Amino acid sequence: MQNNSTDDVVTSVSLTNPLSLTNPLHTYMTIALYNVMGYFYEYNKKYFGGIMPLPGFELLHTYCTLGFFSCQFDCYGNVCDPIIKMTDVYDYLPNQFTDILMHEMIHYYLAYTHQDLQGSHEGAFLLLAAKFNIKYNMNITPQVDIGEYRVGPKGSKIIYNIAKWF
Ligand SMILES: [Zn+2]
Repeated sequence: MQNNSTDDVVTSVSLTNPLSLTNPLHTYMTIALYNVMGYFYEYNKKYFGGIMPLPGFELLHTYCTLGFFSCQFDCYGNVCDPIIKMTDVYDYLPNQFTDILMHEMIHYYLAYTHQDLQGSHEGAFLLLAAKFNIKYNMNITPQVDIGEYRVGPKGSKIIYNIAKWF
């Protein structure tokens, strides 16, 4: 039997204009696959005992889905074909990037350890998120407000293309 577990973070849109958000005290990062891969490797070692095999990585170009974890399960409930995706339309502050990637990694960890095959945002997910939030001063949540995210060059390009189309 195969199950399919999917997940997406996000979707409350606020009225804040993401383009107006600037904070000179922080450096925004434009993400590429190597960022996601590199930080996965680091966080896996640092926060999860390095137990999770390297998943596939893909970049999304979506505004309302910031991160996404999907996988298949074999007949023993073991994870197959895990994939972590993050959107590249935003430039992330380091803590925003960490919170999104850690959110997806918690889903992966819970699936990998057979604690949650559904990708839910309850029980085990909330417990683990709370543990990281308290211990490492993170802000891992089931949803985020995308109004707090700054659209980067790739996002602006998409907006421009849409505007041109109409
Ligand atoms: Zn999720």
